[in-house]
Amino acid sequence: MSQARSVGVIERFRDRLPFGPTDPVVTLGEGGTPLVLAERLSERVGAEVHLKLEGTNPTGSFKDRGMTCAVSAAVREGAQAVICASTGNTAASAAAYAAKAGLRGAVIVPDGKIATGKLAQALVHGARVIALRGNFDTALELVRELAARHPIALVNSVNEFRLEGQKTAAFELLEDLDGRLDALCIPVGNAGNITAYWKGFVEAGAAPRLFGFQAAGAAPLVNGAPVKDPETVASAIRIGNPARWEEAIDAMRASRGAIRAVTDDEILSAYRLLAATEGVFCEPASAASVAGLLKYGADGAERIACVLTGHGLKDPDVALEQVGAVVPCEPQLRAIERAVLG
Ligand SMILES: *Cc1c(COP(=O)(O)O)cnc(C)c1O
Repeated sequence: MSQARSVGVIERFRDRLPFGPTDPVVTLGEGGTPLVLAERLSERVGAEVHLKLEGTNPTGSFKDRGMTCAVSAAVREGAQAVICASTGNTAASAAAYAAKAGLRGAVIVPDGKIATGKLAQALVHGARVIALRGNFDTALELVRELAARHPIALVNSVNEFRLEGQKTAAFELLEDLDGRLDALCIPVGNAGNITAYWKGFVEAGAAPRLFGFQAAGAAPLVNGAPVKDPETVASAIRIGNPARWEEAIDAMRASRGAIRAVTDDEILSAYRLLAATEGVFCEPASAASVAGLLKYGADGAERIACVLTGHGLKDPDVALEQVGAVVPCEPQLRAIERAVLG
């Protein structure tokens, strides 16, 4: 596995991706992420539950799988710059892969609504970070127009190469589980990832049921109508008008799955549970997959994978709000005894 991991998804799955043997490849060694059996969660749910740790990708989210493809294709096409609208992780990933490729990068984020770690990443990689006084949906509309007018590659998941790269996670799941997977639980924001997984499963001849979960305050696919002012603690899925709306509904129907809502309280409770009982620190949006599984079950599925889309360190502010305080202590043995054992 360690060898597979270091080469990146294009080299590893080139025969199933739109890249020829001599095409330029911009990679940071993404993919090959761990699949971990969640023992406590399995007990609770009464099924075998595995966690796909996408937060272990190079920039800490699954976005890297798609970004290696989108940026490699941009280089192949001779683009000088890449641009995206982002709730954070796409920005972090685009900035890193642009830096690796020697391209200029610009990212448009909703003002004040992006997690601290993601903002730090975009800036440290040298992207121009533009804080839009508007939400993600407005940002995406504007960058689509901008990319249509200028020779800049748009690397949002409306870019087909993003989905191509992201489908490789489905291949890895089937490899790791010897082809037997009954259900996949996954958070849904712009709905690119659920679309990509379904594409991957179909290409590999598999058909697990797809259970997608949106935050209750940002659940357009559940409500059947766009949400004007989406609100949730899970900033990565704070999206009111998903770009891959139809594809997500198609994937849900074709797989006999469902797209449902989970509240912020349910998301945060799953988030704490994963950290405290499984040793896995994911970001709030990622925990929506487990929150949904705990709330709705998986309709008799025996073997389930939950996609944990991003790393918990992305959003330290939410983490610190969710846990107990540190224990102050005088530098004496008696005091430390009380502090440790008391
Ligand atoms: C982007 C993202 C999502 C949502 O994926 P979509 O393809 O927009 O549905 C979920 N979780 C995290 C951590 C993300 O970065």
